[in-house]
Amino acid sequence: MKARKLLMIPGPIEFEPEVLQAMSTPTTSHLAPDFTESFGNSLDMMKEVWLAPSGQPFIVAGSGTLAMDMAACNLVEQGDHVLVISTGYFGERYADLLRRYTPNVDVLKADLGKVVPADQIEDQLKKKNYKLLTFTHVDTSTAVINDPRPIAELGKKYDVLTILDGVCSVAGEEIRQEEWGIDVVFTASQKAISVPPGLALLVASGRAMKVWKNRKTPVANYYADWSNWLPVMEAYGSRKPAYFGTPAVNLVLALEKSLQNILREGVEKRFMRHQKMGKAFREAMKVAGLQMIPDTEQVSANTLSAPYYPGGVQGKEFLQKASREGIMLAGGLLAELKTQYFRVGHMGSVNRADLLATIGAIESALRHCSYEIEPGICLKRAQEILDS
Ligand SMILES: *Cc1c(COP(=O)(O)O)cnc(C)c1O
Repeated sequence: MKARKLLMIPGPIEFEPEVLQAMSTPTTSHLAPDFTESFGNSLDMMKEVWLAPSGQPFIVAGSGTLAMDMAACNLVEQGDHVLVISTGYFGERYADLLRRYTPNVDVLKADLGKVVPADQIEDQLKKKNYKLLTFTHVDTSTAVINDPRPIAELGKKYDVLTILDGVCSVAGEEIRQEEWGIDVVFTASQKAISVPPGLALLVASGRAMKVWKNRKTPVANYYADWSNWLPVMEAYGSRKPAYFGTPAVNLVLALEKSLQNILREGVEKRFMRHQKMGKAFREAMKVAGLQMIPDTEQVSANTLSAPYYPGGVQGKEFLQKASREGIMLAGGLLAELKTQYFRVGHMGSVNRADLLATIGAIESALRHCSYEIEPGICLKRAQEILDS
């Protein structure tokens, strides 16, 4: 029997064998011609996946939080006014992070399970001369999704840079960075990009790069300063090696493989696959009587779901039972609700078999926790949607 459990948390996720094989190839010099080629290919493919043909991509060793920091420290100067639109844990983190660079951080916080309405954002933008705003595409703590379009429109209308935390959405949810006019879109390797943890990935618009070039003060973060990284990205982009900090060589090789996979599937198909998987999962939970944190279908993410435990089910016991069924799920992340809900990642290369195995394990785990449901009803509902 396979001892390995299926990893269905919102990152790290299940990775493809060819991506993992790239991780285990003998490490080459970061200046070697074949590595230079892989790095350059990865930069080019990022622009295709982000749908940002004229964007400036960055690949830097670090986690998603480094990507958040990189966008902030390069674009914010002391005294600038910035606005954080928060739909959960990662919005709060962004506000904390931005306060390292300017004291003038305002937060618009969505009610639990909802997004901040666009007219409320617009009212706020009228009040001050904001330099930039940040928002989370999919907040991994709530599974609430923001529609980036109206927010990007407001950014253009009020001449405010827009920064999208796409850590739980890039290569899963629909994002058209250039068409929609978002200035920075970033992610981390271990989420829907489907590469083991360790890379911060970011694409900046021409407008963002110009704002950075026109800074009056030096960037207050040494490692993340674009002055250090832009020459490196430009060099690799034209297939020449360059050095600032040693790149995560094997992770970049794995990234090249995964981006190839993503483009082979096609980003449009990938968006649709995630929509279908997300819907099948949510509907399956609903027939079992589980409530979800997101208020409506419209604000429900497709890369992960966040159902509340039904009455009488203890989180710790439920997660242990699911693990015994071979599926690893995540507990809650929002401090105030931590023990009341769980999270299931269904992003990246997740397929029908993974999804059905997960739903089956959740049914069994619920029954083992004395929550009575008819065996198979969730699976039946999920299959109806997957087969449609
Ligand atoms: C995971 C995540 C982060 C943080 O990424 P790390 O790699 O854990 O630093 C930030 N924002 C969102 C939306 C995430 O899902």
